[in-house]
Amino acid sequence: MLFSQILGHNEAKQLLLKSVQHNHVAHAQLFLGQEGSANLALALAYATYINCEDKQPNDSCGTCNSCVKMNKLVHPDFNFVMPVTSTKSVTKDVLSQKFLAEWREFVLASPYQGLNEWMQYIGAENKQGNISKEESRQLVKLVSLKAFEGDYKIVLIWLPELMHSTAANALLKLLEEPPAKTLFLLVSQSAEKLLATITSRTQIVQVRNFTEQEVVTYLQEKHNLDRDTAYQISQLAEGSLNSAAKLTNEISSDYFAFFTEWMRACYSYKFTEVVDMSEKFQTLGRENQKNFLLYALNLLRKVVLFGVDSSLITYLPPNELDFVQKFSKVITGSNAGEVTEELSQAHYYIERNANPKMIFVDSSIQLAGYMRKN
Ligand SMILES: [Zn+2]
Repeated sequence: MLFSQILGHNEAKQLLLKSVQHNHVAHAQLFLGQEGSANLALALAYATYINCEDKQPNDSCGTCNSCVKMNKLVHPDFNFVMPVTSTKSVTKDVLSQKFLAEWREFVLASPYQGLNEWMQYIGAENKQGNISKEESRQLVKLVSLKAFEGDYKIVLIWLPELMHSTAANALLKLLEEPPAKTLFLLVSQSAEKLLATITSRTQIVQVRNFTEQEVVTYLQEKHNLDRDTAYQISQLAEGSLNSAAKLTNEISSDYFAFFTEWMRACYSYKFTEVVDMSEKFQTLGRENQKNFLLYALNLLRKVVLFGVDSSLITYLPPNELDFVQKFSKVITGSNAGEVTEELSQAHYYIERNANPKMIFVDSSIQLAGYMRKN
């Protein structure tokens, strides 16, 4: 992975580049960021840069012998440890080593994916993955070998917070007495779940979430989405490229169509239609029901802003703009609070496993009343 393949994050990139250029590479570093952030991607780009034979001021060369191998994740001095579990094809000696081929494919497909995606990818079904105590023996063996080609042997541990305590203690020992020319890159989502004695021996690289604009660019470039759809999804992704990718599969413009249809039915008191729609709402499934309500809240916020001052809305897809214009006459300052509260409540109850059909019908009756107030 090259730094240039990661959107934004210039400050973090510069810090990492400088540490190599000034020979200040810490032997253990902790790339800390939420799921769907650039924590793994940055660690990969950093490792590539360290091993690059023709370092450029702002990136690896991308073409030297080392870069070619690093980019395919097959460099012999670049090792991985990640949570795994027994599967249909691996039933005993469940170690990271056995999943290397899958790991390479998985990371090369997208370094922004999360643990759930990884577990699905290896066919773990509902089992939880971890870094077992057997893995610690493997780890000690690994670092006792000399680097084959590069200056450094690099061990990347993905989600070290899922280490069995024996494995964590083995890692701690290695960090206390670091083997020569060995780098540990820990890529973690929650430092508080790591041993404090481990964290204190690492240099921490804080990785922020992606910005809304970065998510839009990512979806346009990687998922070939049009700007309007990318924009809709960026509103729900909360800076996670993993969520954004998942939403790409889940969401469609149907949210918009469904919402407008719903609001029209409520406004005109067509409760038979509302009941029919509640059946459809039921079939969306809980995650989608929640996404839909969040989407509705987002759109409603725009309606209210538009009513206050249309210049507050910087961008809206044309079909949404048309709806927002018309709807801003129905939802105004006098009922916006109640409508918002109603939708938030619906989301709250859905999250707590209430009956989706009942919630939908109840909310519709309330919303109809609030809308007619104007
Ligand atoms: Zn290179």
